[in-house]
Amino acid sequence: MSPDTGPTPITAPETVDVLVAGGGIAGLVATAAFAASGFRTLCVDPAPPITDEMAPGADIRTTAFMQPSQALLERIGLWSRLDPHAAPLQIMRIVEAGGRQGEVREIADFNAAEISDRPFGWNLPNWLLRREILAHLATLPLAEFRPGIGVADILPRTREALVTFSDGGRVKADLVIAADGRDSPIRARLGIAATTWRYGQKALVFSATHPRPHGNVSTEIHRSGGPFTLVPLPDGEDGRHRSAIVWMDRGPEQRRRVMLAPEALAKEATERSGGLLGPLTIEGPIAVWPIITRFAHRLTGPRTALVAEAAHVVPPIGAQGLNLSLADIAALLDLAEADAAALGSAPMLAAYERKRKWLVRTRVQGIDMLNRTSIAGAPLLRDLRRIGIRLIRDIPPLRRRLMHAGMGPGLF
Ligand SMILES: Cc1cc2nc3c(=O)[nH]c(=O)nc-3n(C[C@H](O)[C@H](O)[C@H](O)COP(=O)(O)OP(=O)(O)OC[C@H]3O[C@@H](n4cnc5c(N)ncnc54)[C@H](O)[C@@H]3O)c2cc1C
Repeated sequence: MSPDTGPTPITAPETVDVLVAGGGIAGLVATAAFAASGFRTLCVDPAPPITDEMAPGADIRTTAFMQPSQALLERIGLWSRLDPHAAPLQIMRIVEAGGRQGEVREIADFNAAEISDRPFGWNLPNWLLRREILAHLATLPLAEFRPGIGVADILPRTREALVTFSDGGRVKADLVIAADGRDSPIRARLGIAATTWRYGQKALVFSATHPRPHGNVSTEIHRSGGPFTLVPLPDGEDGRHRSAIVWMDRGPEQRRRVMLAPEALAKEATERSGGLLGPLTIEGPIAVWPIITRFAHRLTGPRTALVAEAAHVVPPIGAQGLNLSLADIAALLDLAEADAAALGSAPMLAAYERKRKWLVRTRVQGIDMLNRTSIAGAPLLRDLRRIGIRLIRDIPPLRRRLMHAGMGPGLF
């Protein structure tokens, strides 16, 4: 030890109202929401955010925000920033292509106009969401985002939680929001168990241009192995029509495909899309995501609420994952605004658990069932799926009920 360096002084912890662990999209939205509502909110994340589509490791997935999620983004002052980049989803099309040769056997269109004067939702790229939400946070006096540090330990006490960061810093917070992802270190630290279901599936994610316009139609094509989904993106500056693609299939097939040259992959993707939008040309990077379902057995611990993938992970079917997460955040925000003095208290967290646990569990089980139906390879199961799609399409009350359910009430 050099003479002029003594032991590191122990500094008093900082104090905030809300500590958000995790600067994924859910964590960033939670930070914006609580700061806009008057709570001093600090968000930390060990991984610096990537806000450039072409940078290695960029999150090239897109998120379709359904109407209730858009309402939350509007309520917290974020939507005006996102709106210019969003592609509306007016029609959700389900295509059953489970014939022997993969031929299209049923098409069911669900038009938002049947239940609303607005689109079902709006689609935005995740990397762009990070860029815009971070820019918004910089304008909020009560919000701070600190990348490069993570939560290393959490000690819940009666009046607050004492959180220690990976750089040794400490903070006292009334409420800790764990938005620290599917392997949530906070969930593990608090000893909250989680159940995981695996399907042996992976999703290939990429953007593609195509000669035919998508017409604001989001299309999910079911054959076997999982759905192939085309989600509208705004046309490029060069005027070319673009869609985001999520292609779910068995792991070994996807490992083979990801090694293909882009032209060869585009050829397979065009074939799998049934040529609906014409030949696809792949743009930019290709990402591979393992598909699982996971749900935490509890959504709360002392002074802590789990949200988003820390609480639930679902296969990307019907654009539910992040929408379910924004519903978690909206529920917490409602409780915090109803009684700010009770922020992070046991009654507030019990109310959050009651409000969300069974809604989340029901939704998770529903999406699991849809995914298993889409994986189905046996002809009998594929025929049953075809009958199901036809019934939903042809019975108006059933169709409208499903449209409402997909958009919101079960989520929020
Ligand atoms: C292929 C695919 C397509 C999808 N499409 C849609 C869609 O169209 N619509 C939809 O609603 N959902 C969709 N989803 C789901 C959605 O993308 C995810 O739910 C969402 O991105 C997860 O966000 P998150 O913030 O919970 O987690 P993450 O993005 O994983 O963020 C967690 C963050 O926590 C950080 N972290 C980890 N450890 C710590 C620590 N100790 N302290 C602090 N921070 C920590 C990590 O660095 C990370 O940045 C899709 C998912 C997939 C796989």
